[in-house]
Amino acid sequence: MVQTRERARLARLAAIPASFALKSPLQIKYDQVVSRIGKKWPRGFGSSRSRGIRGNGFNCYQNSALQAFMHQPAFLNWIMTHNKPIPNSRSNGVINPCSANPPAYFLSAVPPTCAACAFKVLINTYWNLNPPSDPIPCTAPGVVGLVQIGYDSGEFQRGLQLDANDFYNLLQIRTAVATASPQNQAVQNQAVQNQPPPNQPPPKQPPPNQAPPNQPPQNPPITWEGQYKALYHIRAPSTFVCHLCSHSRSGPILDEPSLILHTRQNSTSLLNELLALFDDDLVVACTNCNVNLARQHMAYRIEAAPHILKINLNIMNGGNATGSIQWKIRAGINVLNTLDLTHLQTHNSLPLTYKLSSVIAHEGSGRTGHYLATCRGPKDVISSLADAQREVVTQAHLTRNPQRIGTWSGDFNVHTATYIRDESQWTAAQRRLAQMVVTDLSYTNVLAGTFSSLY
Ligand SMILES: [Zn+2]
Ligand SMILES: [Zn+2]
Repeated sequence: MVQTRERARLARLAAIPASFALKSPLQIKYDQVVSRIGKKWPRGFGSSRSRGIRGNGFNCYQNSALQAFMHQPAFLNWIMTHNKPIPNSRSNGVINPCSANPPAYFLSAVPPTCAACAFKVLINTYWNLNPPSDPIPCTAPGVVGLVQIGYDSGEFQRGLQLDANDFYNLLQIRTAVATASPQNQAVQNQAVQNQPPPNQPPPKQPPPNQAPPNQPPQNPPITWEGQYKALYHIRAPSTFVCHLCSHSRSGPILDEPSLILHTRQNSTSLLNELLALFDDDLVVACTNCNVNLARQHMAYRIEAAPHILKINLNIMNGGNATGSIQWKIRAGINVLNTLDLTHLQTHNSLPLTYKLSSVIAHEGSGRTGHYLATCRGPKDVISSLADAQREVVTQAHLTRNPQRIGTWSGDFNVHTATYIRDESQWTAAQRRLAQMVVTDLSYTNVLAGTFSSLY
């Protein structure tokens, strides 16, 4: 009852109806999962300096994707929980056990074949306490392991410069399956849930004279893949509404590890392309008014927004296994530092804003060109990184399209932008309401009943 009154008060402050569902059940689940993953730069990594990764003539597309990953604090914290021995465990338990390798495998000098294990090696090399060579050699085991995963997939060939976004996608997908078989994970994940999130002090014990807070019912265990989805997957169902008869029906569901914007030659801004993806007019058959060519409005709305939103501008297409790409969009598409997607949510009372973490950009006209990544690092220091080359740049440079680096004469067109969810501008009332949503028992029950199969 107290909570209901408090909720009504906060809703008034935030100017939203108290009875309104603030988040979709899946968004609540995503937010619960992400709240347990550290968002700060991992502690214990002494270097706060982004560094280059040496090129070998063809690996700039791989290096730039690796740079994007290395600049996502939640990803770094999450990966370090992969195949991690539980401290002081009598049963030699392991958190998020590897499908391929024994615990502590990442300390080995052999390049791992598991993407998450290889990322652990790379993270340790990249953000190590004792700074290794700067730039990192392309023969570093973490780099070699991740690059080899690309070659072993058959999608990438040695000696060819391929698409950085394709490599980024592959590593996302391979990381998602690094801990297998959810049924076997219940015990280990229980241990994760009982641990404080990284970078945060352990929860305070209530004073003895005070009653403990209400405990929400036990949730289904969170799997490695569930964590991956909450970090990267955007889920947006669509609706068609007929302009002739107003009949509404559901359309396809977008459920992807990145958004692909089909950039056009006259594109001006990433936001415009994104809005065009989410709201479009199509001419298709209407089953209600029986017209074959009825103008319909198709709208996607975000049911669950990930912590990390990867947007591919798809400026290149038509590549084949041996030849160069057939076309490339060179429009100076405006890339925003802050992306406000609040009104594209199915439940849009609480803000949904992202801040730009990195851009991957491409210079040239195909596989003879060059890639760079411009990334926001610790202490908001932004670096442009093209293989071994590193240049500290300004915020204005991060959103610049085309990008430039050093004395390189070419223009780098932004190809993939990675955004990280940013709640720094939320009001106190919005924060408190969002917390209430997570602890609200009725919502938690909805979750357990409906979405347990996903996790
Ligand atoms: Zn592994
Ligand atoms: Zn109709």
